[in-house]
Amino acid sequence: MSQDIATLRAHLSELKDPETGRPLGSTQQIEQLDYNGSAIECRIKLSTHSRPVADEFRERIEECLRAQSTAEQVRVEFTPLERPIPPLGQVGLSVKSVIAVGSGKGGVGKSTIAASLALSLSKAGSRVGLMDADVYGPSIPHLLGLSGRPEVINGKIQPIYFENIPVISMGFMVQEDQAVIWRGPMLHGAITQFLRDTYWGSLDYLVIDMPPGTGDIALTLSQMIPLAGAVVVCTPQQVALLDAVKAISMFRKTKIPVLGIVENMSGFICPDCGKRYDIFGHGGAREKAEEIEVPFLGEVPLNMQLRQESDVGNLKAALDDPICSAAMNRIVRATCRQINDRAAATPHGPALPVL
Ligand code: ADP
Repeated sequence: MSQDIATLRAHLSELKDPETGRPLGSTQQIEQLDYNGSAIECRIKLSTHSRPVADEFRERIEECLRAQSTAEQVRVEFTPLERPIPPLGQVGLSVKSVIAVGSGKGGVGKSTIAASLALSLSKAGSRVGLMDADVYGPSIPHLLGLSGRPEVINGKIQPIYFENIPVISMGFMVQEDQAVIWRGPMLHGAITQFLRDTYWGSLDYLVIDMPPGTGDIALTLSQMIPLAGAVVVCTPQQVALLDAVKAISMFRKTKIPVLGIVENMSGFICPDCGKRYDIFGHGGAREKAEEIEVPFLGEVPLNMQLRQESDVGNLKAALDDPICSAAMNRIVRATCRQINDRAAATPHGPALPVL
């Protein structure tokens, strides 16, 4: 039996941790491994950054253990792994992955997808912050039903919290119906303050809702911090896709990697008859993604509940809808997979100490 366990451990050690791409054996993440001839029990340490992909990682572990044994039962349990967060960029953010959500033009559901991404990542168990950088039309407070004025304590802007998600938005600083005119340097200053002077705490993911189209904020961001990448939201029509391609080219020019495309308002499933109507078309973004060799992250159908609930500040309730939540979960997993694949492909520094 000890021979069997040694073999199992050797194979398990080769599996790669989703966050770092390092073999589990090299990072001491195998906390326990027992095999009594018919059942395997194992406990693996996993960081909260990897929580959104925990289910598929569990499957991979189970597959590996079954392939190397005749066990009838395999039980995999994850225990928390605290991994120190190296300060990010010149502002020294305590964030592991910064995700920008952009689009070629307004009205395609970019803010809705950005907020849903943050909510779904948080629901999966990750520590998440949400920064509304759409300074021309800050809609995150409205979608989440948040209001109030951020206080400044010890020189740090205190974000407004949605449950345990810190949120910052120009919408908290100006009245909802007021237009703000931005000059380039002011814009740069506002984004710098949002990033550097906000008390974000320690985060796995900071989701940034970008303004549509323009490149100045993307440029400011890319100069301040290394971004994990950008998610580009578009609708299925050809004209919208052309704008999305422009947004992708803008991100590429500012050296922000593109994690992939999301097709929003992709078809409508009639709640009465269950029939699908492709009002704006369907599948255009997937085809375009293939054509320009960008990952396709998933699609969200037109959904009345999503529109109604987010208009009254209750986006979270809309995500309880099974169609919306399944769609968002697929997008979250695909996004995290892209981030993880990129992390695994970058050369490894010395292994971080496991505390
Ligand atoms: P953007 O940030 O691109 O300007 P928003 O996220 O503010 O777009 O969304 C614009 C409008 O479209 C909002 O009223 C929002 O509720 C609605 N909306 C977004 N996605 C969907 C969807 N999948 N189904 C129905 N309504 C949606």
